[in-house]
Amino acid sequence: MTTTAQRFALASRPVGEPSRDNFRLEKIEVPEPAPGQVLLRARYLSLDPYVRGRISGVRSYAEPTPIGSAPPGDAVSVVIKSQDPSLSVGDVVLADTGWQTYALAEARAVRKLDPAIAPVTTALGVLGMPGLTAYSGLLTIGRPVPGETVVVAAATGPVGSLVGQLAKIKGARAVGIAGGPEKTEYLRSTLGFDAAVDHRAADFADQLAAATPGGIDVYFENVGGAVFNAVFPLLNTYARVPVCGLVSGYNDTEPRWSLPSDLMRQVLSKSLTIRGFIVFEFWVQQFDRFQAEVGEWIREGKVRYREDVVDGFETIPDAFRGLLRGENFGKLIVRVSD
Ligand code: NDP
Repeated sequence: MTTTAQRFALASRPVGEPSRDNFRLEKIEVPEPAPGQVLLRARYLSLDPYVRGRISGVRSYAEPTPIGSAPPGDAVSVVIKSQDPSLSVGDVVLADTGWQTYALAEARAVRKLDPAIAPVTTALGVLGMPGLTAYSGLLTIGRPVPGETVVVAAATGPVGSLVGQLAKIKGARAVGIAGGPEKTEYLRSTLGFDAAVDHRAADFADQLAAATPGGIDVYFENVGGAVFNAVFPLLNTYARVPVCGLVSGYNDTEPRWSLPSDLMRQVLSKSLTIRGFIVFEFWVQQFDRFQAEVGEWIREGKVRYREDVVDGFETIPDAFRGLLRGENFGKLIVRVSD
């Protein structure tokens, strides 16, 4: 029996905010696995901001998605057919299979998940790539010590929410920046941040200064733009700035962000450390320790996480557009099938 799969192919490269026309929904025949491969059916697909860079056609740390191919994305999938002894039909695995309902994968490129240890969706967020990003960026580059102040934006997302909670575990003060009162209230009352500020408020810069009376020792950079410009004058001597993402500008067609004119003078006079990173730098060395530590903190109730699960494969382009506008509240996941 031939089964039909669905996939979104990149039809054209977005200019500015992606439109639905940039993606074409296609029906394809489900392929047969070759030796060493497995056939996977996607259950949960992760939507992440980095995909905006991949579909833009500009080469950065990875090759752009070719026109006509499915954009990338990790998915929690079920093994439907296996041509490799390491995996059996029914196994639940994580693999970067992209925006498609069925996919072939090399068995050595997938990670088997144990649903008894943690809900499988956590492999896309708090216990997966975004979680390791927060863990390695904050603890290796930011290195907060007790009493210091850590500021993070996009603070209700999978990266930012873990950054703030890890800062608290390390004895630092956590200040979150997010879009809107519902998100800032969640940061304070549910995640235990010491303060939270709405970046959409007209007096955002004043509110941030009031929330950081002792200045900022670690600024975990997720968004750039106006948020960075408000943070920058508040950085203390020896402050560390792990540069993780610049999501406020991912849809920009030309540079809109004017960096502070005294940037380099302040870097010099305040001995600032501004250090970019891509999570894969830390994967081999830190992933096992990260999983063990953060997994334990989740079980102890010291780390909480929130998932924003939307239903249906067809929703992917709209949900992705919403991610870049801040419409998600927590780790954005598409439920493709049960
Ligand atoms: P989120 O789930 O937090 O989604 C992105 C969020 O960015 C939105 O929800 C929105 O939150 C916020 N945002 C969008 N536009 C603006 C703006 N103009 N000003 C302020 N905030 C804005 O994403 P992730 O947690 O998955 O990722 C967070 C960052 O980490 C991204 O920049 C991403 O690219 C980066 N990243 C980097 C990695 C690396 O290896 N370096 C790996 C993984 C992620 P709100 O409503 O609160 O404004």
